[in-house]
Amino acid sequence: MDVAPTITKLGPCDVRQRGILGLRNARFSPGAKANAKLADGRGRKAEGYFQGSDMHVIYSDHHKTHTTNVATIDGVPFVSRELPARAEVILLAVREAGLGPITAPVDHGLAPVLAVHDPAYVSHLKTVYQETSRRCGCPIPVLVGTGVTLERAPEPPAGFFARRLYYTYDYEDPIFEGTWEAAYWSAQCALTAADVVRGGERAAYAVCRPPGHHAMVDQYGGFCYLNNVAIAARSLQAEGPVAILDIDYHHGNGTQAIFYADPQVFYGSLHADPGVDYPFFWGRASERGAGPGWGTNLNVPLPIGTGDAAYLEAFEVVLQAIQAFGPQYLLVSLGLDAAAGDPIGKFHLTRAAFVTLGRRIAALGLPTVLVQEGGYNLDTLGDYVTAVLSAFP
Ligand SMILES: [Zn+2]
Repeated sequence: MDVAPTITKLGPCDVRQRGILGLRNARFSPGAKANAKLADGRGRKAEGYFQGSDMHVIYSDHHKTHTTNVATIDGVPFVSRELPARAEVILLAVREAGLGPITAPVDHGLAPVLAVHDPAYVSHLKTVYQETSRRCGCPIPVLVGTGVTLERAPEPPAGFFARRLYYTYDYEDPIFEGTWEAAYWSAQCALTAADVVRGGERAAYAVCRPPGHHAMVDQYGGFCYLNNVAIAARSLQAEGPVAILDIDYHHGNGTQAIFYADPQVFYGSLHADPGVDYPFFWGRASERGAGPGWGTNLNVPLPIGTGDAAYLEAFEVVLQAIQAFGPQYLLVSLGLDAAAGDPIGKFHLTRAAFVTLGRRIAALGLPTVLVQEGGYNLDTLGDYVTAVLSAFP
């Protein structure tokens, strides 16, 4: 079943042309540990250490500044399933499984973020907390509770509080003092993982928090502010066609929208029937792409209660479509909320299913960037992430 890593087909010249610095020679046998450096094409560097397998893991402590665990809004404790503990249990499981190297993200700046997201929207994300607090006369998280509508004005409204509605389609996503910082570094984790595979490595995994696949070009929603997988995909697509495989329980409506008319990026997703679960307004099988991108969008909605057999059967359909598309790179929106026991998702996938998913994805033999999305059962999240990652040779 396993396929030799695509990187073995590359010569040193290919690696240099792909632009990574240093990583190609930075392999170590399992258990070895050494200092190493990541660097992007502009020479900025981040320290890390390599400690073992071939699954490069990118993690940043900055996610903790998105303080969904300690917030109160209007004096009422804010309750969220998208907690800092999610990234921490994943990091712990990755370490215990011996996966790595584990490295900090490289700072690519805002340019690759703005290659996906609207500049005014990004500016809004950066400033809305401070501006809201200034106008209210005290520090206060932004939580748009009412008035969200899918019908948007053709341009951002001039009024500040109207703009707060304009830039989201959801009502449960707070913006705290550190939300922008966390979202920025979450995107940098995905970009750094893309660097790793661009440099010739087999696979890399970005511990992205907050997640990203619900974030539109200029709207946040579903716990997502910047679309991490889309930002990474756009950074790779200049070199050839890219496929995004989304196995989160929910449809990645933001990712779909961003690449809907783009023939260079294939988006394939298995998810809960949007007629009955979030994000409700997107994710139907009839959504196939638009214009030159028609046919590069594949949605496979599945009924509530879907278990291993039906899911894996549908999964093969998406894999075949990806193979037919012939991507140079594969990105995986790795959500674990399709697992049995997830407090948000309503599928019943077992650990064995995630082992199979990992093996089937790895067997495609493509340079692969895995980007963390959802998954909210803290008891199993880390274990199921490593069940997927451990399938990579
Ligand atoms: Zn989800």
